[in-house]
Amino acid sequence: IIQLYVPLNWFGTYYRAIQKNFVDMENMFDLMRVDSDVRDAAGAPELLVRRGGLEFKHVSFGYGPERLVLNNVSFKVAPGSTVALVGPSGAGKSTVMRLLFRFYDVNEGAVLVDGQDVRTVTQRSLRAAIGVVPQDTVLFNNTVRYNIQYGKLSASAADIISAAKNADIHDRILTFPDAYDTQVGERGLRLSGGEKQRIAIARTILKDPAIVLLDEATSALDTNTERNIQAALARVCANRTTLIIAHRLSTIVHADEILVLKDGEIIERGNHETLLSQAGFYASMWQQQLESRNSNNGNNGNTDNN
Ligand code: ATP
Repeated sequence: IIQLYVPLNWFGTYYRAIQKNFVDMENMFDLMRVDSDVRDAAGAPELLVRRGGLEFKHVSFGYGPERLVLNNVSFKVAPGSTVALVGPSGAGKSTVMRLLFRFYDVNEGAVLVDGQDVRTVTQRSLRAAIGVVPQDTVLFNNTVRYNIQYGKLSASAADIISAAKNADIHDRILTFPDAYDTQVGERGLRLSGGEKQRIAIARTILKDPAIVLLDEATSALDTNTERNIQAALARVCANRTTLIIAHRLSTIVHADEILVLKDGEIIERGNHETLLSQAGFYASMWQQQLESRNSNNGNNGNTDNN
């Protein structure tokens, strides 16, 4: 689960923990920018977005001085390719995402987007280049339309509908009492986990970023919903540089590279076939998921294999 802890004073004391999803975090961070530890360098230029290549170069990072959460992590995501992060809870997967967004600065090494150190460009331009589909989307108490439009406030009605169609949610929206004008969120129509995720996908399609960060839902969706959402996810990732935190290994068998993160270090890397043939940590994770899926067969068809 991606969480953000915003340091609210100059001494970097973690005054309040905010457990929200990434989309809210983009918003939240703008509001709190003045109080954040992370600042734009004086006269920092905007990020020059080319094709969205990512690189972690010998990155070490800890939230406090006592413990490193990432230790000498290096990897690249080539423009347009898909890289998956897997590993046990607490391994540091979400931390990688937060560093890409520059919610924190690294202790050592560098995070590069299209060859530019994220510390040298404006935070606003960096975040504009990155779209996020979080595990659990929190919707604004506003209309369906606004919740999609948030990806690009200047979008036309036609663009919003087209994004909703690409996210496989348009037909469903038409069944809501006021269609796109239906109020959703805590004080409106409650949407299912799958519907909320589709709204997040539509929002990201509308934002049209070069880079997409995807935090796969752990268990919120049933098998049918899950299967249907794969097509929409594939569309949002197509032709974009994609970094996925994956919980179900079946969703990343086609990833260009899989990074196995454990205790803050990359212990294995390669594509699915290569990692299976190494018979290491990934192979045993895969075996475990196969077994739990088989033992779930005949129950309720829910393959929540975590
Ligand atoms: P999960 O799959 O459970 O989401 P993860 O691999 O994403 O786990 P991270 O959230 O990156 O793991 O956390 C890595 C380590 O950093 C964990 O030990 C966690 O307790 C610690 N950690 C995360 N956020 C903070 C924070 N704001 N302050 C201090 N420690 C933190």
